[in-house]
Amino acid sequence: MSTLYFAETALTDDGWVTDVLISVSSKGIIESLIPINKIIPTSKINGEVVRLEGTLLPGIANLHSHAFQRAFAGFSESAGQANDSFWSWRKIMYQFVEKLTPEQVYVIARQLYIEMLKGGYTSVAEFHYLHHSASGKHYDDPAEMSHQVINAAFDVGIDITHLPVYYRHAGFNHKPASDAQKRFTHTADDYYQLIHKLFKYYKQDQRIQIGIAPHSLRAVSSKDICGAIETLDNYNTKAPIHIHIAEQLAEVDDCIAHTGQRPVQHLYDNFDVNKRWCLIHATHINEQETWEIAQSGAVAGLCLTTEANLGDGIFPASFYLQEKGKFGIGSDSHITVSALEELRLLEYGQRLVHQQRAILCDEAVPSVGRTLYQGALEGGAQAVGRKTGKIAVGYLADWIILDGNNPSLFSKSKDQLIDSMIFACNANPIKDVFVSGKQVITSGNHALENESLLAFRKVLKEIVD
Ligand SMILES: [Zn+2]
Repeated sequence: MSTLYFAETALTDDGWVTDVLISVSSKGIIESLIPINKIIPTSKINGEVVRLEGTLLPGIANLHSHAFQRAFAGFSESAGQANDSFWSWRKIMYQFVEKLTPEQVYVIARQLYIEMLKGGYTSVAEFHYLHHSASGKHYDDPAEMSHQVINAAFDVGIDITHLPVYYRHAGFNHKPASDAQKRFTHTADDYYQLIHKLFKYYKQDQRIQIGIAPHSLRAVSSKDICGAIETLDNYNTKAPIHIHIAEQLAEVDDCIAHTGQRPVQHLYDNFDVNKRWCLIHATHINEQETWEIAQSGAVAGLCLTTEANLGDGIFPASFYLQEKGKFGIGSDSHITVSALEELRLLEYGQRLVHQQRAILCDEAVPSVGRTLYQGALEGGAQAVGRKTGKIAVGYLADWIILDGNNPSLFSKSKDQLIDSMIFACNANPIKDVFVSGKQVITSGNHALENESLLAFRKVLKEIVD
């Protein structure tokens, strides 16, 4: 049975519309969008229609998440050693990982996914690399850890694109994985089995999409990546492929030393990189590589707050957007979990580098907020491989509703609302959230909120004490 919604203002695929009736099927797909004033007066809308109070925007896909890292956020912000960097952060993170049980991972992921919904994300691509027990032994069901994060997403009501990570080596030339990495690694056959199992378990479930994530060029060889893609293609030749590409200068140098090429060059020379690919942290890329990514139609997966937190570097967003490159955003390490904060930092990074204002926009769409929001909707949807990111017929009813009582939104309309919610809000302006037609956040709250908070507090205590 369909549900009818009425929205006074909505950002649809045709732009801003007012007084629109939206029909959503029982499967959560938008069936029709009809300007209501053309049918009956607004005053005649009765109880059969669900009235949505506030401006409606499509929800954004979070294209990069390592769920378990949420519990670690904030524990590594004091100077532990000289030259504190991504690599020293990773060392502390590995120590943290050693302790986590499947049950704890579920609790952390559930808390995180509630935060994501509140932060404006309606789906998530989980780049999942914590596969095995603390000793490195496989669980009885090798997909045990995958089930934990997937069930957390199902319970919370966020759509998930699950990307089991393929990790074999600590570095180029098959450098053996360290003890700290033993929870992440697979042989080729074991990894293929994991893909088979995940498709067997979840193929029929519309809440989930399965793709793959070769961890990085240093962790798997080109041959490994080919084998993984062939296995994935048995099930879905359009399924997403995500990879960490050039987060750190050290890994760029390492790639040049071992292959003679920079990472993006190496990837593009060895694979048909197209729209199913998402390049996470394309941070250190030259002009040719930037152009090549834009031309290929792949999505650049930008994780601005994590990249800032880890001191990674700044993505050349200005040139990339001029070349019509696709991008999306991810909260990655979850140092913060807010789509709006990611987008704000994307523009601010460019302003600081170029010493100018209003950079990521053009004459056609002069609003920076609208340009960035629209870009992240499209790129995010492509990266998670779901029909989301648009309020349009045939798309999932994934949307957020803005809080009209937020003072930063007073007297703002249309694109100014998006500019203000990204750049000017002190408090979260997102009031309600719907995923696949189901309301999951109501007036800023989630139904599992209290239960989740109690469990998360307990897990943190267990880990830290
Ligand atoms: Zn990552």
